[in-house]
Amino acid sequence: MVKAKFITGFLKIRSVLSTLASIVVAIIVIPILYVYFNFFVYRSPYNRPVYTFMPPIRLEFHKCIRCSSYDGGVYGKGPLEHFRSKQATRCKHDWQKISKNDFIIGVKKEFNVDLTHHDSPIWQLDIDKPDGNNITDPARSE
Ligand SMILES: [Zn+2]
Repeated sequence: MVKAKFITGFLKIRSVLSTLASIVVAIIVIPILYVYFNFFVYRSPYNRPVYTFMPPIRLEFHKCIRCSSYDGGVYGKGPLEHFRSKQATRCKHDWQKISKNDFIIGVKKEFNVDLTHHDSPIWQLDIDKPDGNNITDPARSE
């Protein structure tokens, strides 16, 4: 009887200890992962997003002139589209602002994705504005 009590007591202590251990592991591991993602993934010089911190709410289209990756849409609010080329993970992107037409045509050519299938006017070609410099800003119209 004493032995059985000892065993159940031991099992209780063990479950408490394993709970404590998992809490301690969580407290230690979560900050390590946080720091890892912040400094080694997010802040890595390779394959960085166009805006790393607090993007402006603005309709913009970008192309990396080094690896031909595309990134565009309404930053800070969405919808956003990201197209990364095969070299993107080892590319220190040089994002250049491009027109919407250049974005839609470039994505169609390089990634074979037709953005104009979307219903949203954001992804429709500006036929009357071939230079694409005077694109309407949906963030301001609301
Ligand atoms: Zn690039």
